[in-house]
Amino acid sequence: FFLVVEGGDGAGKSTLAEGVRGWLESELGHDVVHTREPGGTAVGAQVRRLVLDWDDAVQGPGPVPRAEALLFAADRAQHVATVVEPALADGAVVLSDRYVDSSVAYQGARGDLAPEEVARLSRWATDGLRPDLTVLLDVDPVLARGRLDGRDGPAGADRVERAGTAFHEQVRSSFLELAALDPRRYLVVDATLSRADVLDLVTARLRRMLPL
Ligand code: C5P
Repeated sequence: FFLVVEGGDGAGKSTLAEGVRGWLESELGHDVVHTREPGGTAVGAQVRRLVLDWDDAVQGPGPVPRAEALLFAADRAQHVATVVEPALADGAVVLSDRYVDSSVAYQGARGDLAPEEVARLSRWATDGLRPDLTVLLDVDPVLARGRLDGRDGPAGADRVERAGTAFHEQVRSSFLELAALDPRRYLVVDATLSRADVLDLVTARLRRMLPL
């Protein structure tokens, strides 16, 4: 079973994933592999640094939109082939913070690339592997930004997180559009609910999908 948690920066993806992992292990006795994109492999960690920590002022012009999309796709190809697929083949539940929809939403949000092109690139990178369920943690980006600044300080933001509110509003609406296209494979959760309530909504949905 392949479960993905998506949402904007600061929506609470990691916290939810840890909660779901605990539930899957203790209640259902599943082996769980909790992983993430970008950066879920050694190759991916380098790609992540290359894309997110690039400093134009020091290093010169960073990756252009197509290069950025290809780099995230390379991270994903490596992640699927060396982490996700092998774990699924072993019968584990794979729980990934972010997957294809993050690319469609983020790389598609700047207006340089059509979301459908980005989706096609990811389909190729993953050889078509789709999640059984995607949980979308939906939150107003301004609110989420406040949470992140509280945690990391404004200086902790990476290149993408520093993009303006309009960009993050676009990312949010892209995620919601993707979810609306395929309600059977998505659960949209209001990320302003308490941690416990968010977790309850997710586990209730997973219970309806048993056996995983
Ligand atoms: O979720 P995480 O904090 O690991 O994501 C790292 C950064 O990369 C975030 O700023 C996120 O918005 C961005 N990102 C992106 N395109 C992707 C995946 C993540 O711009 N495909």
